Amino acid sequence: MDCIFCKIIDGSIPSYKIFENKDVLCFLDIKPDSISHTLVIPKKHIKDVYEIDNETLSNVYDAAKIVISKIDKIFKPDGYRLVQNNGIVQEVKHYHLHIIPIYNDNDNDFTVEEVYKKLSK
Ligand code: 5GP
Ligand code: ZN
Repeated sequence: MDCIFCKIIDGSIPSYKIFENKDVLCFLDIKPDSISHTLVIPKKHIKDVYEIDNETLSNVYDAAKIVISKIDKIFKPDGYRLVQNNGIVQEVKHYHLHIIPIYNDNDNDFTVEEVYKKLSK
């Protein structure tokens, strides 16, 4: 199957991984909306909200909470938007939850690589 996110899971496309376990992978978005914008994906190919089962959803949200606690410690955002697109607004057809931190102070600017280094310390 020609799925970018399945290729990220099998390692044939590189990514900045923030957290993973046997069920899910969390990695930095290549075109972030804000500092430390992260995607959480199930390791099995599931398309969207119509296909995902409750156990996998729970695994996705457990991992999202772990990522949020890591981002909290390093970047201290003022809030988070959790977004999951479907249908016409879903670009990549492999279920993914966006974790988008919101900052009152938008003065900081880091590359994705710099964010990865800070979160990996
Ligand atoms: P969607 O519109 O499907 O909810 O969002 C897809 C997201 O995947 C976008 O924010 C886009 O920047 C991100 N994305 C697309 N291709 C890649 C990739 O190869 N690597 C990473 N890390 N993110 C990607
Ligand atoms: Zn896939």
